[in-house]
Amino acid sequence: MSVSLRLGVLEGDGIGPEIVPAAVRVVDAAVAAAGMPPVEWVPLPVGRSAIESAGSPLPDATVKALSGLEAWVLGPHDNAGYPEPHRSRLNPSGTIRKHFGLFANIRPAKAFDGARALLPGTDLVVVRENTEGFYADRNTFAGAGEFMPTPDVAIAHGIITRAAVERIAHEAFRLARGRRGRVTVVHKANVLRLTSGLFLQVCREVAREYPDVAVDDEHIDAMTVHLLRRAPEFDVLVTENMFGDILSDLTAEIAGSLGIAPSVNASADRAMAQATHGSAPDIAGQDTANPAAMILSCAMLLDWLATRHSNPQLTAAARRMEAAVADTLRTGTATADLGGTAGTRAFADAVVDAVG
Ligand code: ATP
Ligand code: MG
Repeated sequence: MSVSLRLGVLEGDGIGPEIVPAAVRVVDAAVAAAGMPPVEWVPLPVGRSAIESAGSPLPDATVKALSGLEAWVLGPHDNAGYPEPHRSRLNPSGTIRKHFGLFANIRPAKAFDGARALLPGTDLVVVRENTEGFYADRNTFAGAGEFMPTPDVAIAHGIITRAAVERIAHEAFRLARGRRGRVTVVHKANVLRLTSGLFLQVCREVAREYPDVAVDDEHIDAMTVHLLRRAPEFDVLVTENMFGDILSDLTAEIAGSLGIAPSVNASADRAMAQATHGSAPDIAGQDTANPAAMILSCAMLLDWLATRHSNPQLTAAARRMEAAVADTLRTGTATADLGGTAGTRAFADAVVDAVG
């Protein structure tokens, strides 16, 4: 049965108003090609435009509207460019992730032909726990995770809980089942014996429920070396918040560039598409930004919805989007970051043509 999708769309700052509408056009084309009714887009203000219109980069009305939605697309934001007091506060995407408990940050790194991969053949996914570890501003636990007992001493604490590791580990193992069937747990249990130790131990326990998936583990430092030499051998990497942040920048670059690195942030019942890159204020408004990361993030969002609703049409739409980006890059149409001459709109036009 066909479902009609209602998706939030938050353009954000910098290149957001260019790449988000480009991605929306591709979703519309893919959904039509898959024989589904049109998406109902719900535009919501966020970022600088929201400061001007509503006095906050993340107005209460936007959060309220999001709570009535299952999935949405979030453009990048330029927190550093906001006037005070907004600049010093937790950024809109951090606030949204925390508010809705979007604990899983899924960051694929796939080397597309034509996208300048350092290691062609790379096709892996970093599954990053999004709520704990040392990134205290997102902690669901103890409030401030950093403090200064004296002006000359700063202390950060990292938190790892069994419940949070279990849920992220299940995400990773389920994902691996639909891929090449291998999970690598990335940790530092030899030094952080209790926190990283618990992360590793719980992942190993969860692994027993997935006998069809191979599991191994690596120390974070060794992992960077392995990736640089032989990223194509890895499938799914599961790790805690800070390691995942750093590792996913590395894997994005190994697979090509920031301009093609997508991500989804998800809980059990909500998901948000968000490119890995920032708002790129240096190239905003010039029709030169690469919309591929945003487009691929939207394809991941459709995949997430497809799984949640067991809807093969959504899977078909997502595959069409990904194949269209791959075909477009393969035929040499690319934006400036990949050495091409296509503008944002022209690249999106080519992807829309390839979708149909
Ligand atoms: P943030 O703190 O928001 O993550 P950042 O300082 O990491 O921001 P980005 O905004 O991600 O920086 O930009 C880093 C560089 O990559 C900039 O030179 C920017 O122009 C370039 N860049 C980022 N995204 C894209 C894109 N989609 N297309 C082309 N270039 C991009
Ligand atoms: Mg950045």
